[in-house]
Amino acid sequence: MGNPFVVAVDGPAGTGKSSVTKKIADLFHLVHVNTGSLYRAVAYLATEAGFNLDFEEADHAAITRIAEKAQFEFRRMKDKNPKNRLFVNGKDVTSQLRTPDMSMMASKVSAIPGVRSALKGLQRGLGLQAPSILEGRDIGTVIFPDASIKFFLTASIDERVKRRLAELEAQDSEPISFEELREQIRLRDEGDTNRAVAPLRKAADAIEIDTTAHTLDEVVKMISHRILERFPAFGVKA
Ligand code: C5P
Repeated sequence: MGNPFVVAVDGPAGTGKSSVTKKIADLFHLVHVNTGSLYRAVAYLATEAGFNLDFEEADHAAITRIAEKAQFEFRRMKDKNPKNRLFVNGKDVTSQLRTPDMSMMASKVSAIPGVRSALKGLQRGLGLQAPSILEGRDIGTVIFPDASIKFFLTASIDERVKRRLAELEAQDSEPISFEELREQIRLRDEGDTNRAVAPLRKAADAIEIDTTAHTLDEVVKMISHRILERFPAFGVKA
């Protein structure tokens, strides 16, 4: 296959990217990289350093330095849920990252150009070490414009809110209403789509899949089918 095999999966929050990419990673023996968790980790470190959602342009340099200095490491730990853990500066921060507050802060710090460049090399490095699948917002457009195959997942906003609510309930998070979460997701979509650097956008050569009316397994099947159609040799190995 020449270059390392890279699957790019982009799309807005709640389209099922994480669940789908985890399954595809298992099926095709790919390294799974959830790039959103890196932005969430920067948000976590910035919060620990005393910043909140009201930070201003004058704070960009300080938050960029936080991202540049941080040491990120994904480790697989069989006895934990989720198994894929993110250690930042030696500390397992995985369970701190997927709260609504961290989602909003991640969306804000991810619009800082310096933060995006600080994480770019890391993401490419993670994808190049082995056949991999990366999920995020700009994988097919900026991080791996040369990806082997690209997908762009969408779903109606109400369906995405329903899925995120179910995920939050499963992890025993503080309760949040449908309306409040809907507004947060709407704001994140708006921020992610309209930021100046690496906005959320479907790459011209990405395969778009509207997941609204499909189960997780159906989406996994559609993606597997497309991968095997383009890379039949994978079927032999997978
Ligand atoms: O994917 P997830 O919802 O965990 O991402 C959290 C936030 O991180 C997104 O709302 C987005 O602002 C940012 N992000 C990004 N680029 C990526 C992945 C995530 O800007 N590749």
